[in-house]
Amino acid sequence: MFIKPCHGLITSLYDMHRKHPITGKILPHWGVDYGNHADNSIPAAAQGVVRFIGRGHKTAGNFIVIKHPNGWETAYLHLAAITVIVGQSVEQGQKIGVKGMTGGATGIHLHFEVSTGTWPGDYKNNVNPVLYIDDPDVRELQSNLNKLGYKLVVDGKYGEATMNAVINYQDRRNLLADGVPGLVTVASIKKDLPNYIAKEEPIMPEPNANVVSPSHKEAWEWAKEQGYLNGERPKDPLTREQFATVLKRMHDKLAE
Ligand SMILES: [Zn+2]
Repeated sequence: MFIKPCHGLITSLYDMHRKHPITGKILPHWGVDYGNHADNSIPAAAQGVVRFIGRGHKTAGNFIVIKHPNGWETAYLHLAAITVIVGQSVEQGQKIGVKGMTGGATGIHLHFEVSTGTWPGDYKNNVNPVLYIDDPDVRELQSNLNKLGYKLVVDGKYGEATMNAVINYQDRRNLLADGVPGLVTVASIKKDLPNYIAKEEPIMPEPNANVVSPSHKEAWEWAKEQGYLNGERPKDPLTREQFATVLKRMHDKLAE
């Protein structure tokens, strides 16, 4: 009934009994977290009316609450930007804001909650959002796990069967068996696929004048001249750090 409220992998699960990693106190996590992505726009999970907007809240940061026709509410926390106003009607999929890390967040992510009544109440109406979302990343995960011998229904819903398969996989691979299908787990599963082929990407993608800085373009041209990019397609794309190294090498060379 809901669409995924952003792009990005699940980085933390709904958990009524979560222990705080530092204090050890039981601190429930009343929603699901989705991590950073190249496209961090936030679509409304379903049609509804913006009931509440919070700004600069100590823990929730900038957030939006949408009321849906059946009385359910969805909440979108830690936003970098909000592009709707209270009382506004929104269609399912309509952009309402941008993912961020305002409030109590250590990195860019969306904390998303679903309530079967008025949010937050005392959270007694909160339900596990991933049971109501057909998530394309979860579909891919389920289909990949099935290629490794699991027998999951490919429905995009991150239910108990899928989570248990992930925990089982993580355990077999000596990964942190937390059931969270994050970057490390997803990448490891892909590498285990029978038809896995390492993606070959250029060491530095040819600069596109619209998206890269002049220094990137300059460094790319220089690296090509120096033979770093002699027509080959090295295995891994340059990380930010590696690019910084090339840039520094270039400046050092030019300063000689
Ligand atoms: Zn969260």
